[in-house]
Amino acid sequence: MSIAELAIGTKTVHHWIGGKPVASQSGRSGVVWNPATGEEQSRVDFASAAEVDAAVTAAKGAFPAWRATPLSRRAEVMFKLRELVDANRRRIATLISQEHGKTVADAMGEVARGLENIEFACGIPNLLKGGFSEQASRNVDIYQIRQPLGVVAGITPFNFPAMVPMWMFANAIACGNTFLLKPSEKDPSASLLMAELFREAGLPDGVFNVIQGDKVAVDRLLEHPDVKAISFVGSTPVAKSIYETATRSGKRVQALGGAKNHMLVLPDADIGMAADAAVSAAFGSAGERCMAISVVVAVGAVADPLIDAIRERMSKIKVGPGMEEGNDMGPLITREHRDRVASYLDCAVSEGATVAVDGRKDAVCSGAGFFLGTSLVDNVRPGMRCYEDEIFGPVLAISRAGTYEEAVRIINENPYGNGTAIFTRDGGAARQFQFDVEVGMVGINVPIPVPMSYYSFGGWKASLFGDLHMYGPEGIQFYTRGKVVTSRWPDPATSKVDLGFPQSR
Ligand code: NAD
Repeated sequence: MSIAELAIGTKTVHHWIGGKPVASQSGRSGVVWNPATGEEQSRVDFASAAEVDAAVTAAKGAFPAWRATPLSRRAEVMFKLRELVDANRRRIATLISQEHGKTVADAMGEVARGLENIEFACGIPNLLKGGFSEQASRNVDIYQIRQPLGVVAGITPFNFPAMVPMWMFANAIACGNTFLLKPSEKDPSASLLMAELFREAGLPDGVFNVIQGDKVAVDRLLEHPDVKAISFVGSTPVAKSIYETATRSGKRVQALGGAKNHMLVLPDADIGMAADAAVSAAFGSAGERCMAISVVVAVGAVADPLIDAIRERMSKIKVGPGMEEGNDMGPLITREHRDRVASYLDCAVSEGATVAVDGRKDAVCSGAGFFLGTSLVDNVRPGMRCYEDEIFGPVLAISRAGTYEEAVRIINENPYGNGTAIFTRDGGAARQFQFDVEVGMVGINVPIPVPMSYYSFGGWKASLFGDLHMYGPEGIQFYTRGKVVTSRWPDPATSKVDLGFPQSR
């Protein structure tokens, strides 16, 4: 059994620094809940600033040798890690389910989508190929190389404790950087199992480190002069503040924030297919996904039959512990979050919306776990709090629009721009939507359009602060900097002093 698995139920989840677990001396720690029972299942260390410094020192010390490691050897480590993560899918998924609460099947999907990024990084020799221009000037060649940044850090959210770290560390490490992960304190154990797998894959000590903790650890990472880049995924207020703070101290930053994802359904859509998609994308992982559909914008007469079809499917969702086979949806991450999500239902009524299905009435809510059944709120309009806020729970809103143009206006006026989808049988309308909509990731009859690892992931507007999206080609760009070399091997006999500005001839 691994250190990560041993911590569940009894122990404290520690840091991982310099290739081994390190217990915190900070005297601060947090509770890791079992969301399905409402009980404390372990504690997690909260790092002090000095412990962050120790991890940065370990990562900095490992950098020179790692960046000098041949590409073929780096690829070999990534291939080995790929095999190990593949062989340990269920162990990682079980840790996720125990701490996050999502079903094991859903967690297996998370691991699979994370693994894609390790597979992408296995191609690092090809990904780092530069350009070469022979004879740019007489006997002069120019070429570009990409070099790693140094120590880089990833700060990740609770909702994907394995996949989002894999979005970051796979490319960062393959590019030759050394990495510090600050996972969510709510479900920290998967990070340690991944650290153990990295060690088994042959990664040198200090290349991958984990710092457990809260704002204290994050704040130190943001100001540490030896941390060259920050990748962040989490809520918009924190993303914005991290972007502003870290760029002020000269770091490269990509900070992905929250979302409010709309699914536009045109009158010609297949109602059954649209309802299946809306229910799957709204309630999978209890709505705690940044790509969850939270608003269906129904155009014209499609609204009533669509709502009937959605309600019928919602009535069949089985809510219960994610670790129990047969459940479709698990609990929310904490009691406070569950209560906050539930509070939007009263708020929606007070603002004139209609609660068509009330998840608070689900029998599973009466236990000690952090459960909430699925809810459907109709007649939601911009300006209402249940529309404006990211609820991040199993609450699906329906907004009714008279025309396609009105529906697109609603989406474009929303401050977030992470994902969106259109459901239609009209190719022309879908293409127009792709052209019109101000959102970073678009699905056409695909409700959760998370790009594969060889494209890049990122929203627009308040869903992303920074210039480069995460993983894929933009991830490689983020974790490297370009250097252009101009070279000449002249015959010394032809050399002379020339104070003119060099120009090609
Ligand atoms: P969060 O912003 O509360 O926390 C994210 C990380 O930041 C955690 O590691 C946390 O410890 C740290 N943190 C929290 N508050 C901080 C503070 N004040 N200062 C410094 N660090 C702080 O987010 P969460 O609740 O863990 O995750 C859910 C959020 O993440 C949702 O808003 C969701 O939409 C978003 N998310 C976005 C994407 C995306 O790709 N855009 C993906 C997944 C999740």
